[in-house]
Amino acid sequence: MNRRDLIKLGTIGSLNACSKPNHIGVNAPTDEYFNWRMATTWPPNFPGLGAGALNLKRYIEDASQGRIRIELYAANELVPPFEVFDAVSQGSIEMGHSGAYYWRGKAEAVQFFSSVPFGMNAHEVNAWIYYGGGLELWTEVYEPFGVIPFPAGNSGVQMGGWFNKRIDTIEDLIGLRMRLPGIGGEVLRRAGGVPVTLPGAELFTALSTGVLDATEWVGPYNDIAFGLHQAARYYYYPGWHEPGPIMECIINQSAYEDLPSDLQAIVRVACQAANLDMISEYNARNARSLSQLINNEDVEILSFPRDVLNQLEKLTHEVIEELIARDAQSAKVWSSYQGFMSQSKGWLRISEKSYLAI
Ligand code: CA
Repeated sequence: MNRRDLIKLGTIGSLNACSKPNHIGVNAPTDEYFNWRMATTWPPNFPGLGAGALNLKRYIEDASQGRIRIELYAANELVPPFEVFDAVSQGSIEMGHSGAYYWRGKAEAVQFFSSVPFGMNAHEVNAWIYYGGGLELWTEVYEPFGVIPFPAGNSGVQMGGWFNKRIDTIEDLIGLRMRLPGIGGEVLRRAGGVPVTLPGAELFTALSTGVLDATEWVGPYNDIAFGLHQAARYYYYPGWHEPGPIMECIINQSAYEDLPSDLQAIVRVACQAANLDMISEYNARNARSLSQLINNEDVEILSFPRDVLNQLEKLTHEVIEELIARDAQSAKVWSSYQGFMSQSKGWLRISEKSYLAI
């Protein structure tokens, strides 16, 4: 029996712990090297989301002293952007960096691990993931696919998007062709709009040529990088559809279990570091980019009217109620999410919210 087989035997012990996320395998440290490939859903050299994937690669390589080496691929360089999950699941690549709502075709419950319209913000969602049972549920939802999830980034509250006309009432959404993924897209459909799923790299052209009437992307920092401010005039807030979107690191389960336990820990902690780094970067850079847009005469920054938000929230509840009625797994995840959120809102009301109101 060679050393590799011994390592594999070592993973048998860790299988018992697999139901627990963040499990520490029992594989002994080795001097073995691992060459991994990470594909992302983000365009090449993309600031923010793409930088998050690059940071994650560097943290893992540095902390492991090169015992894990990662080849990083942007969207379409190795895998099409919306096939990253399949590639990780099948083991044709070891890891990916993406957003869970792109995989709703696999299991509808995945949407609660990316972004829930009118749901929790980044502070709250991290609290749920790390301390409220969220990561256990996420691990359970991905388990049949042989994929292990970790949160590895968050953009914070996004912007509502770029529109080529004003939105004064909910009727203004009728017939509106807008790029809007996830549950938010379904809410738009119920409001009479036409949700479109397009990768980020195609948004500028689609909006400029009228293929889209509106698009959301992320926030000032990323949206300026795509030139979206040159493709539409009205920039709406808040991003009701993505109040605290989680970016995920997904790892092929066998590849993860093949790692000795010290490298598993490095991967896990690197994801936590990437998670903190991304929101810190977004908060810093969005603030700077926003002032750039405020001074741009071709851009009007507007709040969605209160009534439009109320109607969208009502439609969101309808969409979620139907989702949990037809899908038991979604019902289980929503029960945890909603229970956590209702407690969390009570605390946030007297902490963050009352402080910001000063
Ligand atoms: Ca977005």
